[in-house]
Amino acid sequence: MSDQPVAIVTGASRGIGYAVASALGSRGYRLAICGTREETIRAAAERLREACDADVWPEVVDVREREAVQAFVSGAAKRWGRLDVLVNNAGITRDNIAMRMKPEEWRDVLDTNLSSVFHATQAALRPMMKARFGRIINISSVVASMGNPGQINYCASKGGIDALTRSLAREVGSRGITVNAVAPGFIATDMTAELGEEATKALTSQVPLGRLGTPEDIAHAVAFLASPEAGYITGQVLHVNGGMYM
Ligand code: NAP
Repeated sequence: MSDQPVAIVTGASRGIGYAVASALGSRGYRLAICGTREETIRAAAERLREACDADVWPEVVDVREREAVQAFVSGAAKRWGRLDVLVNNAGITRDNIAMRMKPEEWRDVLDTNLSSVFHATQAALRPMMKARFGRIINISSVVASMGNPGQINYCASKGGIDALTRSLAREVGSRGITVNAVAPGFIATDMTAELGEEATKALTSQVPLGRLGTPEDIAHAVAFLASPEAGYITGQVLHVNGGMYM
């Protein structure tokens, strides 16, 4: 078995997932990354190879599909003979007020953001249990704690992630596996770009540090939770939000 650790990051073609992959790649991890589009996930892999000289395995995987995501996770562990870190990052929004929310909008968000974590995690637990080591890091959101009008589906999915994180941490702690979540605040990515100037200004005014977060702000927190220094931290939700929620 090679000494080089292995990390999986879902939804790593852009935004927070890409920054997380880059942070782990530059810390010496081999990377398995996925997204839904061939061109963008391959381009991300190429950028990661150039930026951090990492061994990168890009795959087109829709995390809503249980078999596909489990084959991806098991495939990465088999390919490199180990699996150290799983970052469940892929996520979407389908905002609507509760009265108008369509069942598809509810289902899409719950399937993509929450059920995917169950599918990927279940596949990752096998090699991690065997090795008696693993780090599972789930990307939640500040709105799971604060609530947000127009996002009952998204907030429910992220609240589910926080609860899953605590329960799983209790289940697998004795096997040397830590399970934590990182809850980003308002981060500048494609997901928030569509909000427009006015809404962005209003949101920024609620951030004591006076700026939007960057994907790298989140990536640093994930890299810390993956590191040996975070070995005694489990079942936690680490908020990274410039102080907008305390
Ligand atoms: P983003 O820029 O929209 O990127 C989303 C990523 O997820 C893309 O790589 C996308 O790949 C992938 N993805 C979406 N659906 C997928 C699916 N079904 N299967 C596989 N991959 C899929 O989003 P982001 O802002 O970086 O958000 C990343 C995570 O942080 C999400 O879980 C989000 O909820 C959370 N978060 C973000 C913020 C924020 O302010 N941005 C705040 C709190 C939490 P393709 O393009 O190939 O589909």
